[in-house]
Amino acid sequence: MKKENKSALRVQNGIEQPLHVNEKVLSKLLEKKNKKIDLEKIFKGILAHDRVELSKGITLIESNLPAHQDLAQQLIERCLPYAGNSIRIGITGAPGSGKSTFIEALGNYLINHQHHVAVLAIDPSSHISGGSILGDKTRMEKLSASPHAFIRPSPSGGILGGVARKTKESIILCEAAGFDIILIETVGVGQSEIAAHSMVDFFTLIHIPGAGDELQGIKRGIMELVDAVLINKAEQENLFKAQLARDQIQNALHYMPIPPSGIPVFVGLISALYEEGIDVFWNHVMFYVEKTRQSGFFYQKRKMQEVNRFEQTLIELFMDHIRHHPEINRIKTELEQLIFHQKISPYTAAIQLYEKFKLPSK
Ligand code: GDP
Repeated sequence: MKKENKSALRVQNGIEQPLHVNEKVLSKLLEKKNKKIDLEKIFKGILAHDRVELSKGITLIESNLPAHQDLAQQLIERCLPYAGNSIRIGITGAPGSGKSTFIEALGNYLINHQHHVAVLAIDPSSHISGGSILGDKTRMEKLSASPHAFIRPSPSGGILGGVARKTKESIILCEAAGFDIILIETVGVGQSEIAAHSMVDFFTLIHIPGAGDELQGIKRGIMELVDAVLINKAEQENLFKAQLARDQIQNALHYMPIPPSGIPVFVGLISALYEEGIDVFWNHVMFYVEKTRQSGFFYQKRKMQEVNRFEQTLIELFMDHIRHHPEINRIKTELEQLIFHQKISPYTAAIQLYEKFKLPSK
């Protein structure tokens, strides 16, 4: 049962409840409690494919407490040598397009083919909407009951960068725990596809046929990211519409450059509900993986993803440092006043502040 928050200082429903204990006191208490976190047990459990210990490890990654983050980084470092040995697949699509149903169908298909499947998610909106994707496991009933599957909802709360980083770190733990196929679900809203794309080997869009102009229904920019478009609900009276959609998308792809992998985008019809088209899709993924491993693109892409992540993290660290720097903040507030009263242009103000604090180049 959920513990009641007894504090009198409650905020409105729907707004994140602030801590009602002094943070410093809490930190001390947690330091004590942390002694009880047995990192060795979690690490050994992960290597022994223990899903309970894997869950504990991911909970550590998802925690925002500095003491937990230290432990999480230690755990990740230890798991790294055992990670990397999987195929990482991103799945995006508008709400209702059938992502969960597809993951249930694909996951079960893969388990029947002797794979171990972990399902993770990136859903930065989950703390706003209250419910997260994958939160409702009844949508993946059979898969979540399988001992060869591991399903984890999106870490809730926080900005996209943070949520995505936690998902990426969770991939490392899942791989160390022996999961050889990692499915990353993301909602087709905001920038979350770009985040998911930056950590997978193969990126898939689930699309349901619209009312004529198919490309209208597909978010701008997404076609440049995808390795496959799956047109879902392609069954019975929907089949004709789905075929039309497929032809239109194929046609549009002819006018776009071939993806950097050198392999044309796969466009297929599926019925996630009736488990149709899953095998054809998976055969294509296998073909893609084989070809890109042969050409070296598979490994090169992963290395580039790491380099990009380094840059991204560095930018985040610098930004964080700047945001919390008292002197920068003091001058920034002064400049904001000047801009507000039209005494200085935003550009000049920004340059002034930047020039004052930039590092000398020599
Ligand atoms: P998500 O929001 O993208 O995860 O979509 P869901 O997987 O929850 O599916 C949304 C609705 O579409 C549910 O009612 C599903 O049962 C239904 N659905 C999903 N795939 C298919 C399909 O292949 N055929 C049909 N007819 N319905 C489907």
